[in-house]
Amino acid sequence: MKIAILSRKRSLYSTNRLIEAAEERGHEAEMINTLRAYMNIASNRPEIHYNGRILSGFDAVIPRIGASVTFYGTAVLRQFEMMGVYPLNESVAISRSRDKLRSLQLLARKGIGLPVTGFAHSPDDVQDLLTMVGGAPVVIKLLEGTQGIGVVLAETQKAAESVIEAFMGLRANILVQEYIREAGGADIRCFVIGDKVVAAMKRQAVAGEFRSNLHRGGSASIIKITPEERSTAVRAANIMGLNVAGVDILRSNHGAVVMEVNSSPGLEGIEEATGKDIAGMIIDFIARNARPHRTRTKGKG
Ligand code: ADP
Repeated sequence: MKIAILSRKRSLYSTNRLIEAAEERGHEAEMINTLRAYMNIASNRPEIHYNGRILSGFDAVIPRIGASVTFYGTAVLRQFEMMGVYPLNESVAISRSRDKLRSLQLLARKGIGLPVTGFAHSPDDVQDLLTMVGGAPVVIKLLEGTQGIGVVLAETQKAAESVIEAFMGLRANILVQEYIREAGGADIRCFVIGDKVVAAMKRQAVAGEFRSNLHRGGSASIIKITPEERSTAVRAANIMGLNVAGVDILRSNHGAVVMEVNSSPGLEGIEEATGKDIAGMIIDFIARNARPHRTRTKGKG
């Protein structure tokens, strides 16, 4: 197979591991710098141009699209899909998962356990919004935030009101969420490929911090998850339409609740914590499933 990896840099751990795993299995892999791909979208034969040549002959594409380049990245991926190239994750599923609010609505509709979550536009409704999610302490999240930036714990009603008003004053979109104190500053990253959780790790926040993001100094360790957590993670990925996903869950008093479904989960933390060859499993999944013209955005040709 010939596999394209949409990424920003070859030296990134995940990109590098995917290329390595593909080559180890006798496939050809090429990194395409997402932001350097350009396209003629009006032609009746969809094409992607790159460094002066037209890309062709790819069987599959692995999107590793960072949150900051979602808009352009999903357009490039869609172009691959229209050319009939099999995407590991589809552009529509990636766009869907990047919208935190939309994702939570879709998961809730299918009965996935979530932290009690509220969303409002007007500062006039803040008091009632807080009552609705059970009052302080609450977690306030910027919808556009990643890696824990823009996630604030407000311990008191007054603090919550001020933070919400400040964010709203800046015209930022926010979620207000029940604080799952019993999670103890830990969350569980379930790495889903197809219909299986192939690896899971616990991320523990440093002392005095409630956010467990590795980028915020959290530490990762291997963890055994329950069958209920396993099926929740697989269902969540499935509802989002993602073949590969990092599903983040919290252990709450009311069972496993899903915080987020990540469409480009990093490989470094999970491979290090579990010692598993996740990159190899991704390539094997593609080898089993890649067929031309398999997406919902496929063209007529
Ligand atoms: P990001 O997408 O920016 O990483 P998250 O929503 O994943 O933001 O939140 C960052 C971290 O904060 C999570 O990994 C988790 O440890 C903690 N956290 C988020 N929401 C809650 C919550 N409702 N209750 C308890 N801890 C939370």
